[in-house]
Amino acid sequence: MHVVLVGPPGAGKGTQARGLSATLAVPHISTGDLLRALAGASTELGRELAGILSTGALVPDTITNEIVRRRLSEPDARAGSLLDGYPRNRTQARALDTALAAHGRELDRVLELVLDDEIALTRLLSRGRGDDTEAVIRHRQHLYRTQTEPVLEHYAGRVVTIDADGTVEQVAERALRALREE
Ligand code: ADP
Repeated sequence: MHVVLVGPPGAGKGTQARGLSATLAVPHISTGDLLRALAGASTELGRELAGILSTGALVPDTITNEIVRRRLSEPDARAGSLLDGYPRNRTQARALDTALAAHGRELDRVLELVLDDEIALTRLLSRGRGDDTEAVIRHRQHLYRTQTEPVLEHYAGRVVTIDADGTVEQVAERALRALREE
């Protein structure tokens, strides 16, 4: 089963993805984690990525699409995957469809996590990652509404939506129920 988690910054995609990945026995593929790992390298690409991440802007699609395409061709991702932070716009959604089709697969489900921006802001400010300053969070929230929400239309009919306000356990239960119901 190939599943995409979609939700605004701070909705808890990473936390839920880790739990679901264990339950569904598919790898958790987080573009944020993959990009942060690359940004830590003292190479030209690493420095370029570090600069982009610090502003909250999106990394160019060509780079992100290639990273995901390669990751999806690894053997452990053939039967399924849990994608977190990708696709973040329509271009990436089309690239994902192509990458899955190359292995005779298609996206099964999109799990949408809904959370109010102000609650998310409070959560992120207490997490305190390098790109978790108020101005950068507001920018990521804006990109989510304008670029990422249209991905839900791209996958209309495959989207299940849950409320992401609650404890980690409550949200995990909602997520599993939503994925199993369909
Ligand atoms: P959050 O969802 O809290 O914003 P992520 O770890 O998913 O956190 O993403 C952090 C940053 O990584 C983003 O602000 C962006 O710069 C970059 N990034 C992650 N995924 C993508 C993607 N699919 N395309 C472009 N940039 C991405």
